[in-house]
Amino acid sequence: MIEQLINNAQDAIICLDLKGIILYCNKAASKLFDREGSSLVGMDYQSVTTFDPHKVGFDQLRESILFNEQLPPYIQEIDRRDSKKELVSVQYSPVTDQSGKITSISAILRKLTQSDKVASKAQALVETAPDAMVIINTVGQIVLVNAQTENQFGYTKDELLGCELEMLIPDKYISLLKKNQENCVSMGQVTELYGKRKDGSTFPVEISLSPLKTDDGLFVSAAIRNITDRKKAENKFKGLLESAPDAIILADKHGDIQLVNEQVVNIFGYSKKELIGNKIEILVPMRYHHRHTNHRDEFFHSAETRPMASGLELSGVRKSGEEFPVEISLSPLETEDGALAIAVIRDTSEKAAVKKELQDFNKKLQVKNKELEQFAFVASHDLQEPLQTVMSFTDFLAENYSHQFDETGIKSMQYITEATGRMRQLIKGLLDYSRIGRERTAVEVNCNELLDNIKIDLSSQIKNENATIHSTTLPHIKGNATELRLLFQNLITNAIKFHQNLTPPEVWIDARREKGHWLFSVKDNGIGIEKKYKERIFIIFQRLHNRNSYEGTGIGLAHCQKIVELHGGKIWVESEVGKGSIFYFTIPN
Ligand code: ADP
Repeated sequence: MIEQLINNAQDAIICLDLKGIILYCNKAASKLFDREGSSLVGMDYQSVTTFDPHKVGFDQLRESILFNEQLPPYIQEIDRRDSKKELVSVQYSPVTDQSGKITSISAILRKLTQSDKVASKAQALVETAPDAMVIINTVGQIVLVNAQTENQFGYTKDELLGCELEMLIPDKYISLLKKNQENCVSMGQVTELYGKRKDGSTFPVEISLSPLKTDDGLFVSAAIRNITDRKKAENKFKGLLESAPDAIILADKHGDIQLVNEQVVNIFGYSKKELIGNKIEILVPMRYHHRHTNHRDEFFHSAETRPMASGLELSGVRKSGEEFPVEISLSPLETEDGALAIAVIRDTSEKAAVKKELQDFNKKLQVKNKELEQFAFVASHDLQEPLQTVMSFTDFLAENYSHQFDETGIKSMQYITEATGRMRQLIKGLLDYSRIGRERTAVEVNCNELLDNIKIDLSSQIKNENATIHSTTLPHIKGNATELRLLFQNLITNAIKFHQNLTPPEVWIDARREKGHWLFSVKDNGIGIEKKYKERIFIIFQRLHNRNSYEGTGIGLAHCQKIVELHGGKIWVESEVGKGSIFYFTIPN
């Protein structure tokens, strides 16, 4: 009776042993395969059926059966004797003996209808999609999902089929989705939303809904892309953009602003909304609009990076209409949406104001310096005359009346002579100092010759102090010969003068070519200078010793500094007390 029932059943029924050999088939099965029942029995099931290569084969099927797993219907192709292929849906189940042991496998095969076939094709198609794909019917029920949907959302297909798409979206975004669902019937639209997993966690997604017209009616397909990685990258980019100290604008080749950071808002006074989509020219003063459009075209044509401070005087205009100086760097950026320009803009109003202040101050300083020099020149020049008179009369007194003086008178005369002598030296120094730079002509100076001449001039000092002067080959430089001679002479005289007791002075002169200038050094083995006086010694009349220890006026280094600065260089000292000093100065090439 049961056998009758099975034999006459509408569905094709086959029984397989665990190796896949056909043990039994009913009438419907032999019809389906277009083969005699007797020829089917004993055949290898796999020789007349094809398992979907993307899915499990017979071995895995047997494993699942032996593990008593619930199996979904398999879509398979069967080979009929007349060589026709037929698409069938097969439901496999275990067959047990009386003791409950699985001995064979039953397969119920059903031919797929046209719409089943379409659905199966659609399923195969959605499975190849990289995104989660969900197809919903007109009443909003999910009718098809792919494996990606299961992976992304943590639901099984069975849990999703028949439910609403809303179960995959956090509540607060549902209205937005609904709105898009209504629109999507006419156009495919991409919306950024959030997805909700079975465990309640959410993640950013991009959903694109498209209408799907089939013979069975209108469906909506939803492609759901997990955009977590993209969002992370976007956030990083935004973070970078916002943390930049400068204003950054991204604009396309038509000059339409695509993206701005907060600094743009701060500097130009427009809101982001007012800027995005607007022309970049709204940030440029009106009179430059035409020129700017040309520049923009040129930039997109050559697409070369233009660094900041390229010497151009540029201006921006704020929403208030106020113009201000800017520095701009431009770089090209290739994106999916075409070439963009990244403009980094720096408001240099403050810098320009400081520069101007500095220039004004410098000018004032120059005028004051000139006045002072003039004053020093006039004063020292005029002081010379009465001093000359005092000296002449003291000489006259000494020659004609000294025999009438007592001892105190003679000593007094001596003091007057010494003091007037010193005063003459000081006035001469002051006069020389104010004269430096008055008439300046630059010539090529051979520093080796210059040094030889100085050594001849200083020969008696060198001999008296038992000094040695070493030098490397020195360069030819451009400068004022008299001034340069005074510079070297002062430094060498000091190096010899400020020597340590009992140690004969040694001086080393060297020059090294550096970027943009020559670096000269005059080194000695003298008494050295305390760190705190490193700057003070260059001030006029500043001396660290009294006249009894070392002769001098305190003008020499002030002279040196003035000469070096007039040549566009710098002078400084490095020194260690008790070991010696090195005076460095630079002369630009
Ligand atoms: P002066 O040599 O007439 O005193 P300078 O202006 O040349 O005036 O030097 C100022 C001071 O700097 C000197 O009085 C001295 O104290 C210090 N000084 C200059 N050169 C040296 C040196 N080579 N070693 C040590 N001290 C020095």
